[in-house]
Amino acid sequence: MKTITILIPTCNEEDVLHHLYGRLIPVINQNPGYLFELFFINDGSTDQSIKIIKELRESDNRISYLELSRNFGKETAMIAGLDYARGDAVIIIDADLQDPPELISEMIRYWEEGYDDIFAKRKSREGESWLKICTSSAYYKLLKKLSRIPIQEDTGDFRLLDRRCVEALKQMREAQRYTKGMFSWIGYNKKEIPFDRDPRMAGKTKWNYRRLFDLAIEGITSFTTTPLRISSLFGLLVSGFAFIYMIWIIGKTLIFGESVMGYPSLMTVILFMGGIQLLSMGIIGEYLGRVFNETKKRPLYFIDEYNGEKERNR
Ligand code: UDP
Ligand code: MG
Repeated sequence: MKTITILIPTCNEEDVLHHLYGRLIPVINQNPGYLFELFFINDGSTDQSIKIIKELRESDNRISYLELSRNFGKETAMIAGLDYARGDAVIIIDADLQDPPELISEMIRYWEEGYDDIFAKRKSREGESWLKICTSSAYYKLLKKLSRIPIQEDTGDFRLLDRRCVEALKQMREAQRYTKGMFSWIGYNKKEIPFDRDPRMAGKTKWNYRRLFDLAIEGITSFTTTPLRISSLFGLLVSGFAFIYMIWIIGKTLIFGESVMGYPSLMTVILFMGGIQLLSMGIIGEYLGRVFNETKKRPLYFIDEYNGEKERNR
């Protein structure tokens, strides 16, 4: 019998865990041909989440859990989960029921047809602000232009991954992770299922604009070096103009002499160039910072407990 792991990154979700469990069980019962593992990754919750998970595990041995040593963020929680997942396929789903578990049966059907990465694409985004929808759509346009891999728009992490996708993702050990880009990057047979995304069931989102901005920069810097290319092209362009301008000034001075003038143009050029230089340095800095972080080669996460056993982190 094939095993399917349902991987649930969980951070302070005490209000929804019982609902989630209640919605997952019927789905599991609809697919009696498979063994299921309900795998919670407790990402440093400070509420009762882990207690609830442990209670659920006592009554249902399909539940297993991994407790990280602190909050590492959803991206890291996911790779931790993939490292420990036992299934022949892994389904990643948010704990807050924004991803309807009822889609899982359909995902499994496509998996049996031979697809490796079946992802849910949102048709609508209930309960998200107009600003969030606009900024996110503009951002994806930009990201797609800059990086040459086809990033899937309007998809989250809700998807079924075949074992070979999981193994591929496990080999990508970068510390600063942009998992959404990685799903595209690894390739394999992809299939999309459109769905309506529900508003969060209870609790509140952990993504404020600062974290979203971080993730956005991550997406660009971890998948493309185009910004570096743009700043060199721009530098080339500006110095080209400056060179022509210089010849013109020298010629003019030689022929007509120079009375001291030109303060406005001087200021404009200095300020403009200063701005461009700072911007380019910032871009270089973003990449350099990432090089710095990756060269430390730290482990991505530490495990506190796996299914009740303390991990030694050999
Ligand atoms: N999550 C996590 N670690 C974090 C933040 C979030 O494991 O540091 C989990 C969270 O419990 C949820 C999922 O990631 O299951 C999505 O989080 P959230 O609903 O806050 O994000 P949104 O849906 O608003 O993008
Ligand atoms: Mg959510």
